[in-house]
Amino acid sequence: MEDDVRIQKAKSVLLAKKSELNSRQVSRDDIAIERNAEVLDEIQQHADRTLALDTLTRRFRTAALVAEALDRVDDGSYGTCANCEEPIPEKRLDAIPWAKYCIACQEIADKSEGDIDLREAA
Ligand SMILES: [Zn+2]
Repeated sequence: MEDDVRIQKAKSVLLAKKSELNSRQVSRDDIAIERNAEVLDEIQQHADRTLALDTLTRRFRTAALVAEALDRVDDGSYGTCANCEEPIPEKRLDAIPWAKYCIACQEIADKSEGDIDLREAA
Protein backbone atom coordinates (compact mmCIF):
# COMPACT_ATOMS: atom_id res chain seq x y z
CA MET A 1 0.00 0.00 0.00
CA GLU A 2 2.63 2.48 1.06
CA ASP A 3 4.85 1.15 -1.73
CA ASP A 4 2.09 1.75 -4.24
CA VAL A 5 1.80 5.36 -3.20
CA ARG A 6 5.52 5.82 -3.47
CA ILE A 7 5.64 4.25 -6.92
CA GLN A 8 2.75 6.38 -8.15
CA LYS A 9 4.57 9.42 -6.86
CA ALA A 10 7.75 8.35 -8.59
CA LYS A 11 5.77 7.78 -11.77
CA SER A 12 4.39 11.31 -11.78
CA VAL A 13 7.87 12.71 -11.15
CA LEU A 14 9.19 10.60 -14.04
CA LEU A 15 6.41 11.72 -16.37
CA ALA A 16 7.04 15.36 -15.47
CA LYS A 17 10.75 14.89 -16.13
CA LYS A 18 9.99 13.20 -19.41
CA SER A 19 7.88 16.05 -20.70
CA GLU A 20 10.40 18.57 -19.43
CA LEU A 21 13.16 16.81 -21.38
CA ASN A 22 10.98 16.55 -24.48
CA SER A 23 9.81 20.12 -24.44
CA ARG A 24 13.15 21.81 -24.08
CA GLN A 25 14.34 22.58 -27.57
CA VAL A 26 17.99 22.81 -28.34
CA SER A 27 18.73 26.35 -29.24
CA ARG A 28 20.50 26.80 -32.54
CA ASP A 29 22.94 29.08 -30.80
CA ASP A 30 23.97 26.25 -28.56
CA ILE A 31 25.66 24.37 -31.36
CA ALA A 32 26.20 27.01 -33.99
CA ILE A 33 29.71 27.38 -35.28
CA GLU A 34 30.59 30.97 -35.87
CA ARG A 35 33.57 32.01 -37.89
CA ASN A 36 35.85 34.28 -36.03
CA ALA A 37 39.40 35.26 -36.74
CA GLU A 38 40.35 35.51 -33.12
CA VAL A 39 41.98 32.31 -32.00
CA LEU A 40 40.94 32.80 -28.42
CA ASP A 41 37.36 33.23 -29.52
CA GLU A 42 37.56 30.02 -31.48
CA ILE A 43 38.83 28.20 -28.46
CA GLN A 44 36.06 29.68 -26.37
CA GLN A 45 33.49 28.78 -28.98
CA HIS A 46 34.83 25.30 -29.21
CA ALA A 47 34.52 24.98 -25.46
CA ASP A 48 30.97 26.33 -25.58
CA ARG A 49 30.07 23.89 -28.31
CA THR A 50 31.59 20.98 -26.45
CA LEU A 51 29.64 21.98 -23.39
CA ALA A 52 26.41 22.27 -25.38
CA LEU A 53 26.94 18.83 -26.91
CA ASP A 54 27.75 17.50 -23.49
CA THR A 55 24.52 18.90 -22.13
CA LEU A 56 22.64 17.38 -25.05
CA THR A 57 24.24 13.99 -24.56
CA ARG A 58 23.42 14.05 -20.89
CA ARG A 59 19.84 15.07 -21.64
CA PHE A 60 19.42 12.16 -24.08
CA ARG A 61 20.86 9.77 -21.52
CA THR A 62 18.56 11.02 -18.81
CA ALA A 63 15.61 10.80 -21.20
CA ALA A 64 16.51 7.17 -21.92
CA LEU A 65 16.81 6.39 -18.20
CA VAL A 66 13.47 8.08 -17.49
CA ALA A 67 11.81 6.03 -20.23
CA GLU A 68 13.34 2.84 -18.82
CA ALA A 69 12.21 3.75 -15.31
CA LEU A 70 8.66 4.25 -16.57
CA ASP A 71 8.81 0.82 -18.21
CA ARG A 72 9.90 -0.63 -14.88
CA VAL A 73 6.99 1.10 -13.14
CA ASP A 74 4.68 -0.62 -15.63
CA ASP A 75 6.23 -4.07 -15.33
CA GLY A 76 6.48 -3.85 -11.55
CA SER A 77 10.26 -3.91 -11.25
CA TYR A 78 10.64 -0.24 -10.40
CA GLY A 79 12.91 0.39 -7.42
CA THR A 80 14.86 -2.82 -7.96
CA CYS A 81 18.48 -2.67 -9.05
CA ALA A 82 18.76 -3.75 -12.70
CA ASN A 83 21.97 -5.59 -11.91
CA CYS A 84 21.88 -7.25 -8.50
CA GLU A 85 18.08 -7.13 -8.09
CA GLU A 86 18.35 -5.73 -4.58
CA PRO A 87 15.94 -2.92 -3.71
CA ILE A 88 17.33 0.52 -4.49
CA PRO A 89 17.36 2.59 -1.28
CA GLU A 90 14.45 5.01 -0.95
CA LYS A 91 16.76 7.97 -0.44
CA ARG A 92 18.48 7.26 -3.71
CA LEU A 93 15.17 7.06 -5.55
CA ASP A 94 14.06 10.29 -3.93
CA ALA A 95 17.20 11.97 -5.24
CA ILE A 96 17.23 10.23 -8.64
CA PRO A 97 13.83 8.73 -9.43
CA TRP A 98 15.17 7.22 -12.67
CA ALA A 99 18.09 5.45 -10.95
CA LYS A 100 18.60 2.09 -12.58
CA TYR A 101 21.12 0.61 -10.17
CA CYS A 102 21.76 0.56 -6.46
CA ILE A 103 24.72 2.65 -5.36
CA ALA A 104 27.25 -0.21 -5.44
CA CYS A 105 26.24 -1.29 -8.95
CA GLN A 106 26.11 2.32 -10.13
CA GLU A 107 29.74 2.69 -9.12
CA ILE A 108 30.66 -0.34 -11.20
CA ALA A 109 28.62 1.00 -14.10
CA ASP A 110 30.26 4.42 -13.86
CA LYS A 111 33.71 2.88 -13.94
CA SER A 112 32.86 0.85 -17.01
CA GLU A 113 31.14 3.75 -18.82
CA GLY A 114 27.66 2.57 -18.10
CA ASP A 115 26.40 0.19 -20.67
CA ILE A 116 28.39 -2.99 -20.50
CA ASP A 117 26.81 -6.10 -19.10
CA LEU A 118 27.40 -5.86 -15.38
CA ARG A 119 26.68 -9.51 -14.83
CA GLU A 120 29.72 -10.42 -16.88
CA ALA A 121 31.88 -7.79 -15.26
CA ALA A 122 31.06 -8.93 -11.74
ZN1 LIG B 1 22.76 -3.41 -7.47
